[in-house]
Amino acid sequence: MTGDVSMNSCDRCAAPAVYRRRYSGETLCRLHFCASVERKVEKEVRRFLKRDSVVGLAVSGGKDSAVMTHVMVGIGRKFPLMRLVGLVVDEGIEGYRNKSVEVAERLLIRLGIPYEVFRYDGEFGTRVEEIVSLSGHTTQSCTYCGVLRRRAVDILAERLGVEMVLTGHNADDIAQTILMNLFQGNVKHLTSQLVLPDSMKREKPLRGLLEKEVVMYAILNDIEYHGNPCPYTRFALRNDVRNFLTSMEEKHSGITYSILRTAEKIEKTEVRLTDRCHRCGRPSSRELCKACEILEYGRGLVLRTRAGESEESDAASQIP
Ligand code: SF4
Repeated sequence: MTGDVSMNSCDRCAAPAVYRRRYSGETLCRLHFCASVERKVEKEVRRFLKRDSVVGLAVSGGKDSAVMTHVMVGIGRKFPLMRLVGLVVDEGIEGYRNKSVEVAERLLIRLGIPYEVFRYDGEFGTRVEEIVSLSGHTTQSCTYCGVLRRRAVDILAERLGVEMVLTGHNADDIAQTILMNLFQGNVKHLTSQLVLPDSMKREKPLRGLLEKEVVMYAILNDIEYHGNPCPYTRFALRNDVRNFLTSMEEKHSGITYSILRTAEKIEKTEVRLTDRCHRCGRPSSRELCKACEILEYGRGLVLRTRAGESEESDAASQIP
């Protein structure tokens, strides 16, 4: 039972309760809790799913994407013509991502979902860890990683012919992003909706679930997930925002959804991107898009380091 539970039986049947949803006052047994999670996801998914959609699932092996994949397979029984495809990205963070990719592959194989892994090393010619260690910009790790991951998912999705990409972001993740934009003064992100021509549609079917509900669902359904944190998490602003939001939610249950609702109420101006990156041809507001800029920077660092190393070894070989 979770720390939220200080009651005996479910509101809907006589079974023992496992979870109290504090913001709604519901007390639920295992069966009714899981059913409520699946109902919330299905309600979200029905907004955008067509009978015969080809859906790309961005699967990292973490709890959110593992739960999303599991629930989507269940929803797939009601949409027999829908096709699920796994999109797995390996950013190259040794000791972390290689392990979560193993979990993601096991999950997809067990559920019979075809998938492909995109490895930064082979496809981009450099890895997040390499860019971070050569540049020394540890606090930028999530920017390098996130921008390139979005690009990697787009490439995989196009390669595998999917129509939309589903990501495992839950309500906490979305509320954190809103607060981060607020703290960093990113007014543009709060007040404008970027409309990208021929860009892959992205949806977040877990947006109605709190992070602790996702964890609870994974535990109750014995879903394997990789739970160790990324070594760069501690440098990220998101980490502090997450801790702040968790303590706020503890004291004022429902505050996470309030943040989401407030953001939805902010009237957004549509900003159409008509320009394209001169390197990759994708929609961008700048001549060189952020992903190409990071790749150019990272590859440059790698080349300079290798050139320096070979100069050193040439000099060493000349030592009598
Ligand atoms: Fe990437 Fe940052 Fe997440 Fe680590 S914490 S996987 S560096 S976005």
